[in-house]
Amino acid sequence: MKQATLSDIEKCVLCGTCKAVCPTHAYSGIEPLSARGRMLLLHDYFTGSLRPSKLLNERLYSCTLCGLCEAACPLGVGVTEAVYLGRSALVRSDGRRRLMRAATKLSLKNPNLSFRTLKLAFTLGGSLVPRLLKRSVPFGITLPDRPLRDGQNIFKPPKKKGRVALFTGCSINYLYPGLGASLINVLLGVGYEVVLPPGEVCCGEPLRALGLEEEAIKLAKKNLDIFGRLRADAVVSLCPTCVLALRVHYASLLGRGVENAMDVTEFLHDKITPISPPGEKNVAYHNPCHMGTGLGVKKQPLSILRGLGHDVIEQADPGCCGFSTSLWDAEVSNGLLEGTLKQLGNAPAIITACPGCMMQLGRRHPNVRHIIETIAEGTVQASSKPKTEAA
Ligand code: SF4
Ligand code: SF4
Repeated sequence: MKQATLSDIEKCVLCGTCKAVCPTHAYSGIEPLSARGRMLLLHDYFTGSLRPSKLLNERLYSCTLCGLCEAACPLGVGVTEAVYLGRSALVRSDGRRRLMRAATKLSLKNPNLSFRTLKLAFTLGGSLVPRLLKRSVPFGITLPDRPLRDGQNIFKPPKKKGRVALFTGCSINYLYPGLGASLINVLLGVGYEVVLPPGEVCCGEPLRALGLEEEAIKLAKKNLDIFGRLRADAVVSLCPTCVLALRVHYASLLGRGVENAMDVTEFLHDKITPISPPGEKNVAYHNPCHMGTGLGVKKQPLSILRGLGHDVIEQADPGCCGFSTSLWDAEVSNGLLEGTLKQLGNAPAIITACPGCMMQLGRRHPNVRHIIETIAEGTVQASSKPKTEAA
């Protein structure tokens, strides 16, 4: 995959193979909300026969960037890269997300300061701030006392087998540091020294999704500079979108990605020792799109869960939960969420491997967990836990 150009868009022969797997088409049933429909719109826009409009922007922003279409395309057309290109080219005509772009850029300029400011607002504003946030963000947000990256950045196991770097990503660092602490503990338990390299910045995907390609490239360069030359057996993350950015998207944007970046289940599946089978009955597993389709990681999480003694229900289709459209297309996002929950049946617990999917599924289901929690509960661990508060 490489950054799209008009000639890539022209490669599309409009055969429609991708329509069959596009979740927003399955939900809406209309052509402009399908992968082929978006390719046609992009072609017409870039060749000058379609003018920028509110509707054109909405068609592009209803895409979840799941990547299912390009995995199915017989010609290997990079549909998601084309959507990024379109959003970036149309940025000036998209008034609806202007404020969101400004807020995202501002908060990523100094994320620690943004975290502390928001934390203060939560403390001083009582329930008012969460209520105001709920108007624009459909998830309940609670902030931990401290981010994960707050002091100690090297953790040593009792007996060292190797060394891994942790790419925390914004959601784990600022919203779910408890999950990061569990990961560090599991990695120490299997004998790996864990490093949190100073200087990590956002992977850039939230900016790209908003059409801010140049700003995203600046962040990508910073991360590549740090993680691309680090001596480590792997760069591990709990967020498959971050891994996809580091390994695949950076390669297309900068000519080189972080080649040893991997999802936590890719790294751990042959290293952990279960301690407490039998596990739970009827645990449903939702494989995040960026993990299954984007990174090709499908078997490892299932083999981990089954190895821990869980009776796992797999999602029949590789359906998208709709997280990435939740901030700008509530109808599509809610429709995809309901469809995903239907496929997962009435399971009493859902396990997934992405903080975003966790937030989205958690809007309708009371028991949604990240797979690292399940791994941490069911495996041999280091005796002393890293001192990080749970979210
Ligand atoms: S993107 Fe690929 S599968 Fe979809 S219409 Fe174009 S050529 Fe066909
Ligand atoms: S990335 Fe997903 S939602 Fe977007 S066009 Fe492709 S299949 Fe459809």
